[in-house]
Amino acid sequence: MSHYIAEPCIDVKDKACVEACPVDCIHSAENERQFYINPEECIDCGACVEVCPVQAIFPEEDLPEKWKSFVQINTEFFKRQA
Ligand code: SF4
Ligand code: SF4
Repeated sequence: MSHYIAEPCIDVKDKACVEACPVDCIHSAENERQFYINPEECIDCGACVEVCPVQAIFPEEDLPEKWKSFVQINTEFFKRQA
């Protein structure tokens, strides 16, 4: 299980979640329009959820239906980084 970042992060990228994450598992890159959570490192602590100014972060089971595709989008980011 992991938390996932969805559409509201796009073009916001303010890094509040990155600073709050105790295991440093939230990443991005200059040419990326949002941040992503490494599902292999996320400990599901929820610390990132409350600091996000645009409510972009959800535990996988609470991800709104319209943003389910962000699980795949997230996975693809980490594949590109591998
Ligand atoms: S839930 Fe916790 S471990 Fe997972 S990304 Fe958020 S702050 Fe990091
Ligand atoms: S806190 Fe929210 S908007 Fe800011 S980088 Fe993290 S997910 Fe994106």
